Amino acid sequence: MTPQAKIEILQHLIQIPSVNDHEAQVADYIASLFAPYPQAQIEKVTYAPGRDNLVVTIGQDGPQLGLCGHMDVVAAGDESAWQHAPFAGEVVGDQLFGRGASDMKSGLAAIVITMLEFLEQGTSLPGSIRLLATVGEETGEYGAAQLTDAGYADQLAGLVIAEPSGLDNVVYTARGVIDYKVVSTGKGVHSAQPEKGINAIDNLMKFYNAVGPVMAKHTKTDPVLGSLLHNVDLISGGEQVNSIPAHAELMANMRTIPAYPNQVIYDELEALIAQLNQEPGVQLDLSYSFPEEAIPGDPNAPLVQLAKQISDQICGHETKVVGSGGANDGAEFLRAKADFTSIEIGPGSNTSHQVDEYISIKEYLQAIEFYEALVPAFLKQTQATVHN
Ligand SMILES: [Zn+2]
Repeated sequence: MTPQAKIEILQHLIQIPSVNDHEAQVADYIASLFAPYPQAQIEKVTYAPGRDNLVVTIGQDGPQLGLCGHMDVVAAGDESAWQHAPFAGEVVGDQLFGRGASDMKSGLAAIVITMLEFLEQGTSLPGSIRLLATVGEETGEYGAAQLTDAGYADQLAGLVIAEPSGLDNVVYTARGVIDYKVVSTGKGVHSAQPEKGINAIDNLMKFYNAVGPVMAKHTKTDPVLGSLLHNVDLISGGEQVNSIPAHAELMANMRTIPAYPNQVIYDELEALIAQLNQEPGVQLDLSYSFPEEAIPGDPNAPLVQLAKQISDQICGHETKVVGSGGANDGAEFLRAKADFTSIEIGPGSNTSHQVDEYISIKEYLQAIEFYEALVPAFLKQTQATVHN
């Protein structure tokens, strides 16, 4: 495939505005690229109308390497603030602009093209590659959760997520996330007779004041990721100034570390809620939205070291082995039956989720070269280990 054809595939992907939805159009387009190759096994896994995950498998018996990318992008925000239209895929010099240029349609295009070139060239692989293209990564990794539950990661020997780490970083460990909500239900009455009502704000504040000290007890620090983070970021309640509030709620975001599995935190939050609900009039309800486990990872795992070596060679730089403060699809795929290493390495710039998001075309083309070297090297290495 020519460099120009590779750029056009990325432009086409950016021109599909898959903003937290409409991933089926991306999946259809990618599937159409594989259509000329009957040996590629193409499966669509529908999450919701207009939202299909895509799984494409090529190769033969032997170890299987997963290549993962999400097809959704975050919103463009105020489009007039962009110098380059967010869904045009405009090229200026070495920069290709658009929402998803960095996070992560360039990474997605690069892994797709890697597979297409293997097919085009009739490369004989010592194993297989499985493309796992997901929906809803930016809003909760539920596409990855669905594919994992359906068994699509059960045969993996390794997983490479093409998120925009930059090719000079291999991410082997990542924080988990817990977003939780507490709703306080009271009884609204005229504020001249507060004794007849129940003040939902007062009761919510009991939780607010108690949860900080509970979370502050987690003093273990991860050498790479840092400490457990807990922040109450949203709070609302009440109807008007002369009514006792019947409703109040807050939302908090937690960034967890491997030392504290999410279940430890759930148990503590639930115990605190249960304890407060013993008090007269208090009614607090706790819920979570799409929590993710932290990824412990091992910096010396063969896949991590191989990715570093190959990136060093191809890009001529020193690739760092690092941790990530954000969760990724790997947290879901690691729940699969297989025991494997999940890493993140992909082309990117520091403009992800911002206006005038872009990718360097040089880095994008280099990423394809990198994946094309990594895949056979990993399969060969894994097969050799199995046979010894
Ligand atoms: Zn991403």
